[in-house]
Amino acid sequence: MSIDLHSHSYYSDGFLSPQALIELAKKQGCQTLCLSDHDTTAGLDEAQDTADKLGVNLIHGVEASALWQQQTVHIVGLGIDKNNTILQAGLKQHQIFRKQRARLMAKGLEQVGIKDAYHKTLKFAPKKMLTRTHFAKMLIDEKICSNMGSVFKRYLTGNRPGSVAPQWQAMSAVINWIHQAGGLAVLAHPFRYRFTNAKVGRLLSAFGEMGGDGLEVVVGGSLLEEVNKAAQLALKYNLLGSMGSDYHGWAGEYRQLGKLPPLPNSITPIWSKLNTIKYQA
Ligand code: AMP
Ligand code: MN
Ligand code: MN
Ligand code: MN
Repeated sequence: MSIDLHSHSYYSDGFLSPQALIELAKKQGCQTLCLSDHDTTAGLDEAQDTADKLGVNLIHGVEASALWQQQTVHIVGLGIDKNNTILQAGLKQHQIFRKQRARLMAKGLEQVGIKDAYHKTLKFAPKKMLTRTHFAKMLIDEKICSNMGSVFKRYLTGNRPGSVAPQWQAMSAVINWIHQAGGLAVLAHPFRYRFTNAKVGRLLSAFGEMGGDGLEVVVGGSLLEEVNKAAQLALKYNLLGSMGSDYHGWAGEYRQLGKLPPLPNSITPIWSKLNTIKYQA
């Protein structure tokens, strides 16, 4: 039986419905799953219904975007009370920014000749919560790019036509929302930010000082050397260890739900603290 504390449904940029995601977890022998959609908790009720039917332990989560030193980082909130008003007010700001950003991204793409980019992209998002993943899928479908790597590089990052400066809330604020909602804050996929080693160290130091609780030590697709490097960082910065596939469910994805290498023995698993969380109103 496995544990997977990071996954997505079609309420953000995953492909599967929450129901299908939980059914897959059950099939894969994943007993404990966290649904952590980007900046929304809207899929949790549906996920909980299926989890109750199938006997899967659902951890209520969210993967909140955040800004640290003008750059985007991702914070997974684990064991949150999704009805907490401070958390929802914070996420609402991100949902509003996502709507504005999607219009600006579409405008940038139209300026380089990609017509009706907004409506074409909406077709890939059943719940109309547009992420860069959806724009990427649209650009591949339009045969403008052939794979996710090139589409992000050529259209969706830096000064490229579909890129918009991020306006997420500060990392300290995001950690606070999660704590107010009774959850634990985990810094997701530490090596995916393209930061130098020194900068990852400064990020984790800042994250710990702001009250951050854990580090995603085992990430979907990690090499053993990356797991070991992340484990050393968790020990150095006194963070609990999390593990999550970051499964999105699109065809051709290399990550598998609930299939991860083990957390190194030296690391205290963050899930050892999850049962004791007392939800606050
Ligand atoms: P957003 O939060 O809307 O900016 O979208 C970020 C999402 O885009 C991430 O959560 C990933 O799922 C996806 N993503 C970012 N960079 C890449 C990449 N190089 N290849 C594939 N997916 C990516
Ligand atoms: Mn994503
Ligand atoms: Mn992420
Ligand atoms: Mn994710």
